Amino acid sequence: MIGQGIPEPPSRTWAEVDLGAIRHNVRALKRRANGSGTRLMAVVKADAYGHGAVPTARAALEAGADSLAVVTAEEGAELRNAGINAPILVFTDLLPGTLTLAKENRLQVTAHSIPSAKRIAAQPGLEAHLKVNTGMNRWGVEPNEVGEARKILGDRMIGVYTHLASADSDKQVTHRQLHAFDEVLAAHPFGGVLVHAANSAGTLWHPSSHYDCIRPGVALYGLHPAGDEGDPEREDLRPALSLKSYVAGVRRLSPGEGVSYGLTFRAGEPMYAATVPVGYAEGYRRSLSNRAAALVRGERRPLLGRVTMDACIFGVDKIVEVGDEVVLIGKQGAESVRAEEVGGWAGTINYEVTTGIQGRRVERSYT
Ligand SMILES: *Cc1c(COP(=O)(O)O)cnc(C)c1O
Repeated sequence: MIGQGIPEPPSRTWAEVDLGAIRHNVRALKRRANGSGTRLMAVVKADAYGHGAVPTARAALEAGADSLAVVTAEEGAELRNAGINAPILVFTDLLPGTLTLAKENRLQVTAHSIPSAKRIAAQPGLEAHLKVNTGMNRWGVEPNEVGEARKILGDRMIGVYTHLASADSDKQVTHRQLHAFDEVLAAHPFGGVLVHAANSAGTLWHPSSHYDCIRPGVALYGLHPAGDEGDPEREDLRPALSLKSYVAGVRRLSPGEGVSYGLTFRAGEPMYAATVPVGYAEGYRRSLSNRAAALVRGERRPLLGRVTMDACIFGVDKIVEVGDEVVLIGKQGAESVRAEEVGGWAGTINYEVTTGIQGRRVERSYT
């Protein structure tokens, strides 16, 4: 081992979440909304896509979000336990046990099918949004079941929504879905219920999907809805999350020496290799092996060989020292590595990159 740096990192690997960026993104998305009265429902499911549900939800509400959305009743209960009072919608289908939890926590629930509407109707006091399938074919009642579902829910129905399958990639499909939704709305004058359809891609690129309320998730975090491509800053979105670690060791490799399991990378000439304590147990995916880059001392450094469970190795030069900060996602000096890029290297999308960060290994801090 070489290098004189004094390692005093906050932990092995940590995530820094910029709540100012979340607030900026909420305001930027609200400005993009079709009407001045259009509301914003901040989607904070899956621990706010890995950003931490409670601090993120608070920041979004401060910046003008009108309500929140989660996927499970437990996620909603976590927000209530933290003292958050805003309306919270649960997206997924709930079984009787979790419907009770939803009711205890004043969560709004979703009716996805006729049986699901009946389960909700059997629990007095629950408020529901009716989800309509317009072509995604995942959740929701069919358009021809809307009348029956509405009758079952009666005046407990306070919203109606659909979900877009290809708002980031296919205008025609999106218009077909919105047309099917408009037909449902025309056939059933709902009067006064909240109508919503727009995920982040709908919010940014399909104003006709905005209705009464936009429902962005990924864009709140400053991530691009097209996944592994696109620059969020071009949409006036600021990435909120940085993932950082530190150089735990530096060693010199001679030509022909390999690194990590399988020695799948071999040095062609003398070089330096830095060991960094982040691996797939932190959510830094094994599919990044031999593909990713990270920033050390303001420069991009290639990932050498395989990502292991707990560590990986980057190619560096001799100015790099033990204790140096390593930026896996985020900015350092003039350089940055975006979650979109990491998703591309890993063969996935930015959504999965941040959501996959493992909270039990990766400490979060907020600025
Ligand atoms: C996740 C989700 C959203 C948010 O989607 P993004 O692409 O992250 O903006 C909106 N609506 C529903 C029903 C969802 O499940």
